[in-house]
Amino acid sequence: MGSTTKRSAKDAKGNGRDLGSTTRRNGNGAKRNRGLREKKGSTMRTDCHIHVRGGKCEAGPILEQMDRLKIDKMVLMGSGAAKTPAAQKKSDDELSKLCSADRRRLVGFARIEPQLAGTTDEIRRCREKLGLVGIKMLPDHWAPCDEFMHPVYKTIEAMGMPIIFHSGILWGNADSSRFCRPANYEAVIFFPKLKIALAHIGWPWVDECIAVVDRFVDMAKRDGRKSSQVWIDCTPGTPPVYRKEALRKALAVCGAPVMLYGSDLAVPGDLSIIAGRMETDIRLLRELGCKQEEIDMVLGSNLDRFLEAE
Ligand SMILES: [Zn+2]
Repeated sequence: MGSTTKRSAKDAKGNGRDLGSTTRRNGNGAKRNRGLREKKGSTMRTDCHIHVRGGKCEAGPILEQMDRLKIDKMVLMGSGAAKTPAAQKKSDDELSKLCSADRRRLVGFARIEPQLAGTTDEIRRCREKLGLVGIKMLPDHWAPCDEFMHPVYKTIEAMGMPIIFHSGILWGNADSSRFCRPANYEAVIFFPKLKIALAHIGWPWVDECIAVVDRFVDMAKRDGRKSSQVWIDCTPGTPPVYRKEALRKALAVCGAPVMLYGSDLAVPGDLSIIAGRMETDIRLLRELGCKQEEIDMVLGSNLDRFLEAE
């Protein structure tokens, strides 16, 4: 892993002066950390998939661990699943407060339950009032291709918020996996500015996930878009014996520019195993013939591109 900002958790609330003067705000309000890192030739490392457990969660220990592990930026996904609109608001408020310690490094994705009353208003509040950048959703007895989702997608698209969707088999829920099949996410084709990532490479429906993403990658090329609408969140799900093969197929068919590294760890908690997980993926990507530049995209800079509005 490369080196990262020298910033400590203590001065995380500051104005980011040690991140260099060339930081700029992208379409989603997230500042991109440029300049300093490029000047020093160091490498950005990011994680697109960290859960926030309910209850008390402090930013300080998270930022300290990120400094120690040389992780620049993490997507923090709000605790769920909310059963009432009040619980939804509480989860979103808590996430916003947590991320406010350093919004450049702690990227808040509201964990939205779309069947709750007032969902579209809450999504607007998340973006406009709470400064949350994206949405995390997990279909559970509703499907991403259900028509009730159309106004939800329309609102998220208008807010310029990317979505990380659970895709693949679900542990810890009842018979929900059938709702999370990758093909169900093809429905976002009706919302061309909406950007989504399918988590866990759709495990065990890896081929189905790759087929869906490939379709959107091809469409983006034909339409001259900046990037595909549908990306792959490579967070495991894939057991180790399958991991290399899943990455090989994703790279060969969809390509490194639409792949995001994620660990699926949770805070508050020990993040130290991220280092080992990153090393493993770096080794596998090397064995698969990836150039360093592509590895740095998947484990680093791609996250900023994913956060950019189309
Ligand atoms: Zn997860």
